[in-house]
Amino acid sequence: MTLAGYQIDLVETGRIRLDGGAMFGIVPRPLWERRIEPDERGRIPLAMRCLLLRGHGRTILVDTGVGDKGTDKFNDIYGVDLDHSTLLGSFTALEVGPGDVTDVLFTHLHFDHAGGATQRTQAGDLEVVFPNADLWVGERHWQWAKESPRESASFLAENLDPLGASGRLRLIGDGDEPFPNVALEVVDGHTIGQVLPRVTDGERSVFFPADLVPTAAHVSPLWIMAYDIRPLDTLSEKERLLDRAARENWGVVFEHDPVTAWSRIVDAERGVATFDERPDLPTEM
Ligand SMILES: [Zn+2]
Repeated sequence: MTLAGYQIDLVETGRIRLDGGAMFGIVPRPLWERRIEPDERGRIPLAMRCLLLRGHGRTILVDTGVGDKGTDKFNDIYGVDLDHSTLLGSFTALEVGPGDVTDVLFTHLHFDHAGGATQRTQAGDLEVVFPNADLWVGERHWQWAKESPRESASFLAENLDPLGASGRLRLIGDGDEPFPNVALEVVDGHTIGQVLPRVTDGERSVFFPADLVPTAAHVSPLWIMAYDIRPLDTLSEKERLLDRAARENWGVVFEHDPVTAWSRIVDAERGVATFDERPDLPTEM
């Protein structure tokens, strides 16, 4: 798809599995298991679908998936599946190399969003996968990620430290919008200072709500992850942004939905109403 001067592509970076109960919070299992079927360990399969924007002289990658440096134990707990897609495999299909990326925008630094930005060298050291890219993180989020005891299981030093040491970390203040034709919404319900990009030409928009609305099932206002640190903020952020998405007919990309990559929102208030669900982006908005 092209919009607002960008070629927009979805980049599948692999699959993980997370506990279904944690993914759906207070929603009873008989309801959520009809939407995404759990495995025998109660986990549901999740995509890690990133966004690639090429235009305005830049190649911007939004999020990076979990990456391939997890230990066997980590990969077992989270069901890491890199057999069907990887970040660099999807890049190859799009004829993009890691060195082509000018900017990486992290919506936030949970391991399933930030892990793919770093890899181990043969000597076992950590390095950033993208040698030429500026690495963009919300300023309040960066502080929170370094300090938060509440989310320490999601913020891994192996993912954060190389970004800080790279000399290429760029912090985004609230209200900053460093990329042409990309509006940034900053939300605080899932984690502090999550940055959500919306590519827009002023009339049409493609919105990437990351973990504010991780799957199509989470369009329902009260379908909120138990991981969220401020669920009532998530509720009001979803109501505000999905209501606007419905009114302005935004295309919405679901980063974690295992089936539906893209949809429009019909009726945010009543939740489940999505239509035009697709496994890929349409060629035109
Ligand atoms: Zn997250």
